[in-house]
Parts: sequence; structure tokens; C-alpha cells
Amino acid sequence: MDCESIRKIIAAYINHTALDNEIQQVEEHLCICQDCREYLSHFIDKKEEEKLLPSLKSQKSIPKSGWDIVTYVIIYLGIILTLVIVFLFIFKK
Ligand SMILES: [Zn+2]
Repeated sequence: MDCESIRKIIAAYINHTALDNEIQQVEEHLCICQDCREYLSHFIDKKEEEKLLPSLKSQKSIPKSGWDIVTYVIIYLGIILTLVIVFLFIFKK
């Protein structure tokens, strides 16, 4: 079977709608054809990307909360510094 026919079946193969003999043909072809293996992995990557997209979108809120943590740390350090300066001032007296 040539690559073009195999690639038509690969779509069905990925969606688990391929027939048993088609699966066998695809798998046999993938063993001997690097190009079609790459084609399949590219196909799967794209599908996974689509699946991951919603979680990637929700991850965009992380830098915001990360920034909040930085702000809290700066404020916390500022308070400690102020206390140290006040203590030093009292100690000098
Ligand atoms: Zn091929």
C-alpha cells in the first residue's frame, strides 16, 4: 500500500474507527515508513495540543498570581526592614 492510501486510513486509525485489517495495514506500513510515522506523530501532537489548549488558557492566570506572591514578598520584606530600622533607632538611643 502506498503512503497516500495509508494516510487516509491514519485519520480513522487515530479516531479508533479503522477496521481491524486497516489497523494492521497502517501498523505494518508504519514499521517500514519513517515519513508516515512522522505524519502520525504530527497528527497526534496536533490532537493533544487541541486537548491541552483549555488547560493552557487557564494557566495564563498563573503569572498574575505569581506577581501577587512577589508583591507580598516585597511588602513583607519592607515591613521587616522598617522594623529593623526602628529597632536600630531605639537601640542607638
Ligand atoms: Zn508511508
